[in-house]
Amino acid sequence: MATMGSLIGLVNRIQRACTVLGDHGGGGEGSLWEALPSVAVVGGQSSGKSSVLESIVGRDFLPRGSGIVTRRPLVLQLHKTDGGQEYAEFLHAPRKRFSDFAAVRKEIADETDRITGKTKAISNVPIHLSIYSPHVVNLTLIDLPGLTKVAVEGQQESIVQDIENMVRSYVDKPNSIILAISPANQDIATSDAIKLARDVDPSGDRTFGVLTKLDLMDKGTNAVDVLEGRQYRLQHPWVGIVNRSQADINRNVDMLAARRKEKEYFESSPDYGHLAHKMGAEYLAKLLSQHLEAVIRAKIPSIVAMINKTIDEIEAELDRLGRPIGGDAGAQLYTILDMCRAFDRVFKEHLDGGRPGGDRIYGVFDHQLPAALKKLPFDKHLSLQNVRKVISEADGYQPHLIAPEQGYRRLIDSSLHYFRGPAEASVDAVHLVLKELVRRSIAATEELKRFPTLQTDIAAAANESLERFREDGRKTVIRLVEMEASYLTVEFFRKLPTEPDKGANNNTPANDRYQDNHLRRIGSNVSSYINMVCETLRNTIPKAVVHCQVKEAKRNLLNRFYAHVGSKEKKQLSAMLDEDPALMEKRDSLVKRLELYKSARNEIDSVAWK
Ligand code: GDP
Ligand code: MG
Repeated sequence: MATMGSLIGLVNRIQRACTVLGDHGGGGEGSLWEALPSVAVVGGQSSGKSSVLESIVGRDFLPRGSGIVTRRPLVLQLHKTDGGQEYAEFLHAPRKRFSDFAAVRKEIADETDRITGKTKAISNVPIHLSIYSPHVVNLTLIDLPGLTKVAVEGQQESIVQDIENMVRSYVDKPNSIILAISPANQDIATSDAIKLARDVDPSGDRTFGVLTKLDLMDKGTNAVDVLEGRQYRLQHPWVGIVNRSQADINRNVDMLAARRKEKEYFESSPDYGHLAHKMGAEYLAKLLSQHLEAVIRAKIPSIVAMINKTIDEIEAELDRLGRPIGGDAGAQLYTILDMCRAFDRVFKEHLDGGRPGGDRIYGVFDHQLPAALKKLPFDKHLSLQNVRKVISEADGYQPHLIAPEQGYRRLIDSSLHYFRGPAEASVDAVHLVLKELVRRSIAATEELKRFPTLQTDIAAAANESLERFREDGRKTVIRLVEMEASYLTVEFFRKLPTEPDKGANNNTPANDRYQDNHLRRIGSNVSSYINMVCETLRNTIPKAVVHCQVKEAKRNLLNRFYAHVGSKEKKQLSAMLDEDPALMEKRDSLVKRLELYKSARNEIDSVAWK
């Protein structure tokens, strides 16, 4: 079982860690600070808040003066020690032990000014002060600026509302225990503290009513009605306090003497004698400590649940951002290759289906290539006029006897030349599709998002490979066309019917008629041959393109890059894994928070359930 006080010690440690991380509450559900119970001291100015705190601690250490002295929340953590020297420590100046409490007071004033400047402005960033002493009980108290009604000279008009808002932000949360300080020499109905407490804690479950200045009440009056709960009912008993008067302070009456005096006051009082064992600062401290412990004990399961939920959320967020990479070259190389494989997977999905884009390659073969082939100007090239010109040029001074062998070859050669255009265009079109798929795959690879430099490197390597594949594709399709020109299909011509003699009923001279028909037939024969070749190329160009470009891209897109990366030094590898600084910062802060929550969970495990 947890020892008395170890639970409060636990809360103290977690609270300090929160402040280091900038978690001062107000972060809503995810704030660990918000989940922790604490005691907030509230009341009007000069109601005796600082005096009560000092009295609980048994030391003078709070800045004093008229006006608003407390302008930042002071989180005061009391640690009971087994003996030895009493000392204080500030979170903002760790390792510096204060054993002179006058110096503590000065440090609080200086630290307040550090944030608010010398103005009378307020700030909600707390100052953390720990006091280690054999004379205290384990307790966390928060001293807050006193509630005021009017702004005085040198203060902003908004200060009244600003203070109320800040105090409210501390007492609003259900985990806050409210130490509501009211002076006894003022009507309880006009108490600022009770007014606020009633507002945020109407049931009085978490409000402790404290009545100060009992010694200053008018002669003949007493506060028994208030102290016994008949004037304003709370779930916890009211505690009456007699602090040092201003005169006592001026005379340097020390704390221990003051406590003794308070004790005597109650014990000898005709009004409060019967309540004496339930009055005074010491009793109040014990009461609060016990209550705080009970609250913490009850809260632990929900705090643990909140911590676990937050840990899960942070882990998920870290997964989304990508985990930090190990510092050695091996881990870096592994990461880079892993990213490459991830990219390659996505790229293949684009090609093979599953992701869009691959179908556009088929579109090139199915639409673009046939359309381009159809548009080739064979009609013009094999017109009667051009056939005549080519044939007669090929014949030279001696016209051919039966069939113009040379003329056929020239007509076919020059026709075949036209196929280069559509062949190369198919290569380029597929190249563009592949390039676009690389771009899309880079963008779609989640793992790569955090590494802009590596993205660029992979894109450059992939595009360089595609360039090589394109060159190979281009050479191959040109070769296909050239092959057609290298050796003609003799069979085709042998199967052609021999020339019939027609057109005798025409008016033109018989010789001319014969000549025209003869040339027309040649043109039509060449055209049939070219059509046959066209059909072949329509089928073989896609095969060449897929073989040289698509299949290579699928198999060897990053091969050279792998070899290249494998020979890099650690420094170059780190440079490739350069991340967006904003992202790195975000990850660092998440990792820090994760550590806090994990250590909080460990602390709770080690304290609470033994
Ligand atoms: P705060 O502004 O609420 O922090 O109030 P302080 O603790 O600074 O007290 C304001 C003034 O009231 C100081 O001069 C105290 O000495 C005086 N004072 C506070 N409590 C008591 C009390 O119980 N009896 C007497 N006689 N004076 C008190
Ligand atoms: Mg004060």
